[in-house]
Amino acid sequence: MTPYDSTIREIQPGIFRIPIPVPLPLQYVYAYAITDPQGVWLIDLGMDVEEARAAWDQADRDLGLSQHTVAGIIVTHYHPDHIGLAQYAADKWQAPIYLLGDEITLARSIFEDTPPGPDLTAFMIQNGTPPDEVVLLEQEQSLRRTIVHLPPVMHPLKAGQKIVLQDHVLQIIHQRGHTDHQAVIYEEREHLLFCGDQVLSRITPNISFWPNSDPNPLASYLTSLRELKALPVRLALPAHEHLIDNLNQRIDDIIAHHAERTQDVIEIVSSPKSGYEVAKELFKRPLNAYQMRFAVSETLAHLEYLRLEGELDRLDGTPIRYQRR
Ligand SMILES: [Zn+2]
Repeated sequence: MTPYDSTIREIQPGIFRIPIPVPLPLQYVYAYAITDPQGVWLIDLGMDVEEARAAWDQADRDLGLSQHTVAGIIVTHYHPDHIGLAQYAADKWQAPIYLLGDEITLARSIFEDTPPGPDLTAFMIQNGTPPDEVVLLEQEQSLRRTIVHLPPVMHPLKAGQKIVLQDHVLQIIHQRGHTDHQAVIYEEREHLLFCGDQVLSRITPNISFWPNSDPNPLASYLTSLRELKALPVRLALPAHEHLIDNLNQRIDDIIAHHAERTQDVIEIVSSPKSGYEVAKELFKRPLNAYQMRFAVSETLAHLEYLRLEGELDRLDGTPIRYQRR
């Protein structure tokens, strides 16, 4: 069964999954609408591209969102396929946009600061990326700002906060690793988890090491996943791919995947290698410059994890290299 479903689905009474097309291999980001007598809450939005606006206009008509009051919009994290339409949505429904407070700061620095922080070009060169690939990345960084538009005001959520509606109670849970401050939403009455990109049904979510961010995102991710396992979740509703009806099994699979990956990395650095060189060996298939950037930052998450576990040394220089201790 294809993981890409282009129709709006009522997952259970009053809870809708809305496919919003994105120009990415994942094809759709799934937004959710929780309808309640006290108003509609939306989760995630999509990139600011024409097809995505059209999909929301259609959903608005199909679900009558404008007739109900959209009481709030929760964006799980700052990635463009989730936050891009924040300005558009805030204007369309006159509704407040919510993210965890520190994620708002991160989003503003990435999409609004001049120059954008942090300096990814220097970071990629430092980790062994060839200069011609870096040029492509700079073009991509400026393109990224055309698909994300943030409203002047966004409202901070707090970890543990509960939004109490008439038929639903939404608990905000802070999850690290995919971004530093991703919010996932636990619906307490029905035991549903709107899990953003933290857990996906087929691919393992990207866990990347970036400058000025979590120094050990992989460790944070694994800790966050173990915390999620304590919740009695009946159904997880991720932002891409299939619904997940056995969340704890899927979490165990992802944890096992990272343990294997970590072993592969240890094998590769029997001699000193840059993050770029390790990524080339780890991801055996050919990758374009954009995919390579994620491959490198994902590899660095494993390398830094192993370094902080005391397994590897980091040799400073340009490029930075890692080797087995
Ligand atoms: Zn996403």
